[in-house]
Amino acid sequence: MPELPEVETIANGVNRRVRGETILSAWFSSYPQPFKTPPDEMASALPGMKIAAVRRVGKHIVMDLEGRAGERRQWLVHLGMTGQLLVSAAEVPHRPHTHAVLGLASGRELRFVDARRFGRLALLDVPFTGPGQEPLTISKADFAALFRGRKLSIKAALLNQSLLHGVGNIYADESLFRAGIRPKRQAGRLTRDELTRLRKALIDVLRHAIKLGGSSVSDYVDADGVRGFFQLEHKVYMRGGEACLVCATPIKRITLAGRGTHFCPNCQH
Ligand SMILES: [Zn+2]
Repeated sequence: MPELPEVETIANGVNRRVRGETILSAWFSSYPQPFKTPPDEMASALPGMKIAAVRRVGKHIVMDLEGRAGERRQWLVHLGMTGQLLVSAAEVPHRPHTHAVLGLASGRELRFVDARRFGRLALLDVPFTGPGQEPLTISKADFAALFRGRKLSIKAALLNQSLLHGVGNIYADESLFRAGIRPKRQAGRLTRDELTRLRKALIDVLRHAIKLGGSSVSDYVDADGVRGFFQLEHKVYMRGGEACLVCATPIKRITLAGRGTHFCPNCQH
């Protein structure tokens, strides 16, 4: 499942390729999913619209569209588990599981491919802001306010998309390690200093991952695979039983909020 850094990198890669393009045609497969807006409605609305920008909101890719008469709409793409957004020359054969093809004025195509069909496509009339707040830009005060009085664990709170959007299992574990906070701690009981450290750690780890993903995305968008993202050096995630990179204590793996959770029992308090 792509997390915030992967979605940000993909959105930026697609933006570089298609910003300013005009959509000439739109085709959708006959499956009931991945469409949240009826395919007929998208197929008639999209042609003629100009792609003003492509960007990330939470874990969604948002395409800002402008019509000839200045009308604005948004095409929303959620990649789900296996969704890919590809920019291809029109002559490149469509891959199996292609569910949407937008023909662009340059002769290229923007394609949505999704083998498992957990991805979602929708056309919106009002700007999409998503649930929850944006972790990369949230202020210290707003970040602290998110967790005030909350009895759930800080790990569960970080994963709660209605609080912060886009943070998944990897970056929750990695940011808690960097902040020195145990995942089981009650969110509402973290001190101001701990919350300040956690916000900084979360932003640092997400920005670092975006930086690492940035160069591999051209491969991703044009061809296949997300290889680059997995070269990330995780300090605790999926390292249960291995030595902590800071103190050599074995990393513990527990289940918390229904998810595999990894932490160093010596470095995290
Ligand atoms: Zn340690």
